[in-house]
Amino acid sequence: MQQYSQFYIDGQWVDSIESNPFELVNPTTEEVFATVALGSPADVDRAVVAARKAFESFSRTLVNERIELLHTIAAGLEKRGADVHAALTQEMGAPASLKAQIGSSINALKQAAKSAASYEFESRRDRFILRHEAIGVAGLITPWNWPIQLLCNKLASAFAAGCSVVLKPSEYTPVSAIVFTEMLHELGLPAGLFNLVNGDGPGVGNAISSHKGIDVVSFTGSTRAGILVAEAAAASVKRVTQELGGKSANIVLPDADLKAAAEFNVTRGFSNSGQSCHSPTRVLVHESQLEEMEGYLAEAVAQHTAVGDPTDPAITHGPVVNRNQFQMIQRYIQSAIDEGAKLIAGGPGRPEGIDKGFFVQPTVFSQVTPDMTIAREEIFGMVTAVIPYKTVAEAMQIANDTPYGLAAYVFTADDHKAYEIACEMRAGRVFINGAPPSTDVPMGGYKMSGNGREMGEAGMEEYLEVKAILCPSA
Ligand code: NAD
Repeated sequence: MQQYSQFYIDGQWVDSIESNPFELVNPTTEEVFATVALGSPADVDRAVVAARKAFESFSRTLVNERIELLHTIAAGLEKRGADVHAALTQEMGAPASLKAQIGSSINALKQAAKSAASYEFESRRDRFILRHEAIGVAGLITPWNWPIQLLCNKLASAFAAGCSVVLKPSEYTPVSAIVFTEMLHELGLPAGLFNLVNGDGPGVGNAISSHKGIDVVSFTGSTRAGILVAEAAAASVKRVTQELGGKSANIVLPDADLKAAAEFNVTRGFSNSGQSCHSPTRVLVHESQLEEMEGYLAEAVAQHTAVGDPTDPAITHGPVVNRNQFQMIQRYIQSAIDEGAKLIAGGPGRPEGIDKGFFVQPTVFSQVTPDMTIAREEIFGMVTAVIPYKTVAEAMQIANDTPYGLAAYVFTADDHKAYEIACEMRAGRVFINGAPPSTDVPMGGYKMSGNGREMGEAGMEEYLEVKAILCPSA
C-alpha cells in the first residue's frame, strides 16, 4: 500500500518529524488505499522558515516574472491533469465530468496572471505614492470538496501578489495535492516558495493559523473550522480570509422558464454529488406552480443523474467523500421525512443496485417550509428543498433568511426584475438565468459564509499590503 510520509519543504521532499499515519479510504470501494502522514507544529515551523527565506527574493520579483511563473504552472498542470484527476477519483470519487476542475484550475492560474498584468502595484498621487506590496508568507488551508480548484485559486493569487506559501490540504484529499506538488518540483520553482505540510485541522491547521511567521491565512472549509482559524490567528494579528459554508436560494419567478430552472438546479446543484458550497439547495417556487415544478425536477433528476462507479465514463455522479458525510446526508433526508416534507425524487439509502460505497440518491423534497432543518442547514449532498412562496417580496425574504450569504440564483424573463432581486440578495455572487461560474469574478460570502474574496483582482488584494509614501510636496 502506498505510504505518503513526506512533506515538501524548502524545495525537497523530507520525512515528517513524527510518524502519525492516517488511512485514506476510497469512497467507491470503502477500502483503504494509502496512508498519509499527519504533520505536527514542528513540521510547520520548518516550512515557515523556508517560506520566509523565499519571500525575501520572491516579493522583489518583477510582475512579469510572476506572470511567467503562473503560465508555467498552468502549462505544467495541463500536462499532469490526468494524474491529478486520477488521484481525485481515488480519494474523493470524482467522475469523468469533474475533469472540468482541472480546466478551471488552469483558468484560475491564467486569470491571476491577467489580474497581475493590469494591476497598478504602484501609483503616484498628488502628495504621496501608493504601493501595494506582497503581505508575506501565506498559509493556505483547503477542504476536500474541490481540492485542486481551491488550491489553485489561492496559490495563483498568492504568487501573483508575490507571496510564498505553506499549504495544508484536507487530510481526506492529500494525494491530488501531492501530485500537484510533484509537478511544481519538476518545474523547478525556487526553494521555499511553495511548501506542503499534510495534516489535520487541530494539528497542522491550527499551527498554520496561529504561527507568528505567517502573515495571512486563506481558509476554505466549514464555518465551524473557519471560526477556529480566526480565533487561533487573532493573537498574531494576521489577516484571515474565510470561504465558508452556504445555503443558497434559487428564486424562480412565475414568468421564468420552469423547465430550464429545474434542469439548472439539478445539474448545478448536484454537480460534484452536491458537495459544493455554492449549490442552489433551496428552490423558491410560486405556490401556483409548485406541482408543475415538482414534475420538472423529478424529470431532470431522472435525465441528468447517473450515480455509480466514477471510473465508468457513463457515470455523472460518484460517491460522497467519506462515511461521515454519507451518514450525515442520510440523517438530513430522514429529518425531512420526519418533519413532513414531500419526497419527489430519491430518498434514504443507496441507489438501487448499489450495496457498497458512499453513494447517495439524488433527492428532492417539496412542500418544505423555511423552518425545516433541510431548509436551514448546509447538507453538502444531493438534497434539494423546494419551498413555495406567495409573493416575490416573500421569496426574497426567505432567500435572505439564512445565516449564510455565499450565492443566490434568479430565474426570470424580466432582466430588470432580475437585477433588482440581485441587488437585494445578501450574497457574494448572484447568478441570473443559469449564468456559468467564472474564475475572473470575485467569489466569497456575506455573513457566516466568510470574509474576503477569492479570484480576480479582489482575490489578489487579499495577499497585498497597502503602503502610502508621503512626500513634502508634489
Ligand atoms: P472542514 O472545515 O472540516 O475542513 C476544511 C479544512 O480545514 C481542512 O483542511 C481541515 O483539515 C482544516 N481544519 C479543520 N479544523 C481546523 C482547525 N481547527 N484549524 C485549522 N484548520 C482546520 O471542511 P470540509 O468538510 O473539508 O469542507 C466542506 C466545507 O467547506 C463546507 O462547509 C463548504 O461549504 C465549505 N466550502 C466553502 C467554499 C467557499 O468558497 N466558501 C468552497 C468549498 C467548500
